Amino acid sequence: MKTAEGTIIQLPKVKILATGGTIAGSALLKTQMSEYKAGAIGIQTLLDAVPQVKDHADVSGEQICQISSNNITDGIWLQIAKKVNAIFNNGEAEGIVITHGTDTLEETAYFLNLVIKSTNPVVLVGAMRPATAISADGPINLLNAVRLAGNPLAKNKGVLIAMNDEINGARDATKTNTSHVNTFRAPELGYMGYINNGEAFFYNASLRKHTLSSEFVVNDLDKLPYVEIIYGHANDSRILVDAAVEAGVRGIIYAGMGNGSIHEKAEEGLIAAQKKGVVIVRSSRCGNGTVKGGQVKYSKENFLTGDSLSPQKARILLSLALTKTNKLDEIQRMFNEY
Ligand code: ASP
Repeated sequence: MKTAEGTIIQLPKVKILATGGTIAGSALLKTQMSEYKAGAIGIQTLLDAVPQVKDHADVSGEQICQISSNNITDGIWLQIAKKVNAIFNNGEAEGIVITHGTDTLEETAYFLNLVIKSTNPVVLVGAMRPATAISADGPINLLNAVRLAGNPLAKNKGVLIAMNDEINGARDATKTNTSHVNTFRAPELGYMGYINNGEAFFYNASLRKHTLSSEFVVNDLDKLPYVEIIYGHANDSRILVDAAVEAGVRGIIYAGMGNGSIHEKAEEGLIAAQKKGVVIVRSSRCGNGTVKGGQVKYSKENFLTGDSLSPQKARILLSLALTKTNKLDEIQRMFNEY
């Protein structure tokens, strides 16, 4: 690119992979914030709405799918992971932006955080208001995400989430509000950084393993081991546990009460499932804190613990762990490290 003074500057190559979501959402009226079709608008139209991205990066886009992210599948995750790994391997881009619905954005981010073999920035971005809305947040979020993906400061931080001028890490961030634009937060461990006037400032990084230091490789896989989440509650039973076993599940995340406590009726089912070889991981529905060892009655039953991962992220780690091993102590090590 040529500056106003005539100096030639080399812009970073940033590839945008588009998957749909509210950032590509279209409503009949500008005032409709929740009644719209997610994923209706293609990548080129999204880019045309933010021509300023071209001042910061040599951008190209590719449509991977056009869905509302509540419909994401393992198949799409594997497709994205292979694509991202190939782009970096072939030197096609220095950074990648993935436009995504916010409902499962944190899950896609954490999956990629564990399977991308590069230190180059991968930034997930979405929006809470459809592209057609008054004060749509998508265009500024997309511009910031492209700038972040081309920024060497964003290297080796794991997969990032950039929305609402905040930078979050894939492991710890979660969607915390159904409709507000400041929905992504890591309530206890905090933001990784801020974006101020388009410029990124970092303060924190995760010490947990990711990307290049991760042992998980999916390039040769066409499906992932089947893991379900079962949500603990008052008056719980073993019905869903038995159904999951019947359906051929290889692992169960029990989103337990408090510190990973299990209703005694569900526990009977989980003990039986464990004896049949199903890996059981206790996590918590609290949304904060850790589930560690220390409850002897559960460790005696060979139930593992999910650390500070939310149930939906523990499901991803357990599924990837099962691509490598069935050994319980190895799987527990992974929960302690990732
Ligand atoms: N249902 C939408 C999705 O996840 C919500 C959003 O993008 O904000 O695709």
